[in-house]
Amino acid sequence: MNIGIWILGDQLSLEQAALQSCSDQQNVFVIFIESIQHIQTRPYHQQKLVLVWSAMRHFAQELQQLKYSVTYKIAEDFANPLDEWVRENEITELRVMTPNDRPFSEMIESLDLPCEISLIPNNGFLWNTAEFNNWASGRKRLLMEDFYREGRRRWQILMEEDKPVGGKWNLDKENRQPPKGKLNPPAEKWFKPDEITLDVIAKVKSLKIPTYGNLEPFNWGVSRHEALQVLDWFIQYRLPDFGTYQDAMLTGEETLWHALISPYLNLGLLQPLEVIQAVEAAYKQRQISLNSVEGFIRQVLGWREYMHGIYHFVDVDYPEKNWFNHTQPLPQFFWTGETKMNCLHQIINQVERTGYAHHIQRLMVLSNFALIAGIEPQAMKNWFHAAFIDAYDWVMETNVIGMGLFADGGVLASKPYAASANYINKMSNYCKSCVYDHKERISENACPFNFFYWDFLHRHCDQLKSQGRMSFILNNLDKMSSEELNSIRQQAEDWHIHH
Ligand code: FAD
Ligand code: SF4
Repeated sequence: MNIGIWILGDQLSLEQAALQSCSDQQNVFVIFIESIQHIQTRPYHQQKLVLVWSAMRHFAQELQQLKYSVTYKIAEDFANPLDEWVRENEITELRVMTPNDRPFSEMIESLDLPCEISLIPNNGFLWNTAEFNNWASGRKRLLMEDFYREGRRRWQILMEEDKPVGGKWNLDKENRQPPKGKLNPPAEKWFKPDEITLDVIAKVKSLKIPTYGNLEPFNWGVSRHEALQVLDWFIQYRLPDFGTYQDAMLTGEETLWHALISPYLNLGLLQPLEVIQAVEAAYKQRQISLNSVEGFIRQVLGWREYMHGIYHFVDVDYPEKNWFNHTQPLPQFFWTGETKMNCLHQIINQVERTGYAHHIQRLMVLSNFALIAGIEPQAMKNWFHAAFIDAYDWVMETNVIGMGLFADGGVLASKPYAASANYINKMSNYCKSCVYDHKERISENACPFNFFYWDFLHRHCDQLKSQGRMSFILNNLDKMSSEELNSIRQQAEDWHIHH
């Protein structure tokens, strides 16, 4: 009996379940496939293509060095090379670790191969789907905070017996420091492309299909070895101040103290538990402030696991949700960065150059704008999925449809993340170099975030009243004169006509 293992591009770990399911390497054949058809579903960022393919090639090489029998195919689709390889090697059972992304599972289930296909339960997350569903079923609210605490208890992270270290579960209030002047964060841990990566860069350069973003300079790590260096670098230099400026945004200091590890976690090059435990160990060994350590662990043990769990828990129609019934098309400037709104201009340019923006840039500028301007959620999600280095279906649905755009009507967020220029001005230096006035709501140079924000609240006042946490801000809407409200609505309408 010959066993075949198909390793998908985001399953690049020796620990992954399909590899682990074989007790030895005898009669085991491993395949990787780079499919051109697969990447034509959207105009992916060129660096994302380089990252995934180069990481696949590096991992294939690692398996070869471990004496696995590895086939690496560069092909049009998945079905033909699989069929060929199954026949050539007389494979009787093809094992694949269950994909993170639902559409990929459906594609595998539809394959017609001359062997049995087994999906091996995914072990890439701390909580598997059954465990999460068990936690979530029957709860009135799927609060991230409850889930996070359960995770802390389960894996005994930052715990003193059954109590949180330091007495509090969540120190988020200490992690919202606005930036004052230059902050001079430590440099990023970047890498020079090696031979394998240079080959992939040449391949991507020669592609005749629509893509997005700059191909070079390509600075991302592409192997577990490099991903571990990024993790060490983060813990050494960035973790101590991670918390304090977690929500800040600064021109020219784009990544601040963020870890830059999502591309590696999402490919399987880093495992969530090892990341969490390394950070906790650093806390115990060095005098790192608890707000930074807890703040970071909450991201990985809390948010990341929660978003993945919800993705598999919700109904299949979740991706199409549109609670506010928003239908505006995606403005063209999301693809070009050509807008006078400096915050969007800076961040979109940054995404174009690197495929990366940090959480607050994604949530409070990019998706906030889409939310208040009434852009169709699915159009926005498609943009995020194409443009980001770390984007996958599982992380898109919950973050963009749910958290960013509140298109699920509050399954996971307790209120919409809608904000005016006031927030952006407080947390960034973007407004200082902007042609718009962050204080103005209705004049000619009024900031679009302001008139869209009030227009959004007004348009959806009734729906928003059902969200308890919105009542305070809706009271301010009631205090606005009808003249001002009309001008705001007019400005919002005019903006759409001209964009
Ligand atoms: P840090 O700020 O250093 O955080 C550490 C880690 O926590 C991240 O690497 C990530 O693995 C995890 N994390 C934190 N929040 C989340 C979250 N909400 N969902 C999943 N993981 C989380 N994350 C992606 O991995 N891919 C995406 O395509 C993506 N798109 C997003 C789109 C929107 C609209 C929003 C609001 C968030 C999105 N996120 C996404 C979550 C988060 O913004 C990124 O994980 C984070 O910015 C990655 O950068 P970092 O590694 O420097 O993170
Ligand atoms: Fe963005 Fe408005 Fe500030 Fe300009 S003024 S940077 S558009 S928030």
